[in-house]
Amino acid sequence: MPELPEVETVRRGLAPAMEGAVIARALVNRPDLRWPFPERMAERLTGRRVLQLRRRSKYILVDLEGGESLLVHLGMSGRMTVSGDPLGQFLHDHPAAEKHDHVVLEMSNGARVTFNDPRRFGAMDLLVTGQEAAHPLLAALGPEPLGNAFSGESLAATLKSRRSPVKSALLDQRVVAGLGNIYVCETLYRARISPVRRCDRIAAPRLVALAPVIRAVLDEAIIAGGSSLKDYRRADGELGYFQHSFDVYGREGAPCRTPGCDAAILRITQSGRSSFYCPQCQR
Ligand SMILES: [Zn+2]
Repeated sequence: MPELPEVETVRRGLAPAMEGAVIARALVNRPDLRWPFPERMAERLTGRRVLQLRRRSKYILVDLEGGESLLVHLGMSGRMTVSGDPLGQFLHDHPAAEKHDHVVLEMSNGARVTFNDPRRFGAMDLLVTGQEAAHPLLAALGPEPLGNAFSGESLAATLKSRRSPVKSALLDQRVVAGLGNIYVCETLYRARISPVRRCDRIAAPRLVALAPVIRAVLDEAIIAGGSSLKDYRRADGELGYFQHSFDVYGREGAPCRTPGCDAAILRITQSGRSSFYCPQCQR
């Protein structure tokens, strides 16, 4: 499942193919993904110039001339592919249509953007630009972790009286938007806080220190995604999935990477999700 850094990588990969170009033709091959598409989606997209691509949490917002924005969520298995050669840097020809190519946008610059989603947990909607905060999928989201409204003080104020384990609190999208299981595990390792520790039992300075760690973990993953963008032109044009090495996630039984620590990484289940952590470093 794509997390925030993967979605940001997709946004950055789509931008050169879409921004400034007109959607010459929109093909919508079925009535729905997870939810029905908005009415007349293909017509509402066709002929619109793309002004810019933004991201909110794990959602991409494509701002269109005319006052509407296309909201895109990749869901569990959604993939975005760019083909064609708008800037002379993509090597892929347009591939043959595949079974799960649900939405195809043919851009005026020759690029083709394809949304493929075998499991159809993804979503697309059209909304009035600037009113995304009121959209049902976005209304309950907390602050953007890389945005100005998110700080150590604000995060500590939100968490300090919570009795839930810090792992669950950080996965709560109302606390901070877009953080998923992988990056919460990595954040808690780097902050040296046990995932089972209750928020109200964590000293305030340690809660304050969590916010810059969250930013650093996400920033590093986004940088790794940026390097993957240089490689995807040689691959199949698919955006957003990249190799990234994690300190604890997926490393059950492997040695902790903290110098001087001889413990092995543990995996436990919390609220049905795996938590990976070092029992010695994280308290
Ligand atoms: Zn350790």
